[in-house]
Amino acid sequence: MTYQVLLYYHYTPIEDPESFAEKHLKYCKKLGVLGRIIVSSEGINGTLSGSIEQTNTYMHDLKSIKGFEDMSFKIDVEDAHAFKRISVKVKKEIVNLGLEDDINPHELTGTYLEPKDYYEKLKDPNVVIVDARNNYEYDLGHFRNAIKPDIKNFRDIPSWFRKHKQLFEGKTVLTYCTGGVRCEKWSGFLKREGIEDVYQLKGGIVTYGKDPVVQGELWDGACYVFDSRISVPVNRVNPVIVGKDHFTGEPCERYINCANPECNKQILCSEENEIKYKGSCCDSCREHPLNRYEIRASSRIYD
Ligand SMILES: [Zn+2]
Repeated sequence: MTYQVLLYYHYTPIEDPESFAEKHLKYCKKLGVLGRIIVSSEGINGTLSGSIEQTNTYMHDLKSIKGFEDMSFKIDVEDAHAFKRISVKVKKEIVNLGLEDDINPHELTGTYLEPKDYYEKLKDPNVVIVDARNNYEYDLGHFRNAIKPDIKNFRDIPSWFRKHKQLFEGKTVLTYCTGGVRCEKWSGFLKREGIEDVYQLKGGIVTYGKDPVVQGELWDGACYVFDSRISVPVNRVNPVIVGKDHFTGEPCERYINCANPECNKQILCSEENEIKYKGSCCDSCREHPLNRYEIRASSRIYD
């Protein structure tokens, strides 16, 4: 059977997010789609999987809601569901940036660039390319020469920026993230911090990888995704592996969670080294009394 995996977000006011989420969950259950959706008074952010018919119906139905008409979806065709269950949660923001003084991307955001225009700017030696994602996402793949903020959570990026502001001052800045949602406020934040020339990749990395002209060129490695696939290919012209095995440093694109549930760190690790090191990132995790390696019998844990 053929499935589609959808990735989408939309900034639009939702008056009563609680009741919207409740209705939306019922609707998703009835339709049979699986995934993770966040609803907030500022909009919706989701990723889900289902049959072609289910997902097409979902897109059609969502676009028929007032305020959602011009939504866009990124679509991957796969041969299985990418989720095991459905959740619809209400949160303060559709991605947690946690600024004291929040940004409305409809009022302040970086200039959107289509993949082919972004590609041209990437080749300019005077631009600064900055990844808006977390360190484990960067480690699996990123744009060539992009700065890695080395953050564990998106909400850490504003304080990281303030410590490294000198890298950006007076420069043309290119930002990017998986599907584009994180760049909406982050690029607006950069402008508010005094960076004048800020561009964001429209549709994010996944759109860039599908673009028929650029075909993901200048992307090294794979793209981390928040579903059971873990990673998807981007560069179809000259792909390389940049991920490195946690233990040996050899090329590796296979993520596991550390077997110590109190650590749970994501590490790139071959099957061979997972067995050898009992799926644990370090000695103390390996010897931790709650270590679940033996229990889980070497199966990978995704969420
Ligand atoms: Zn660990």
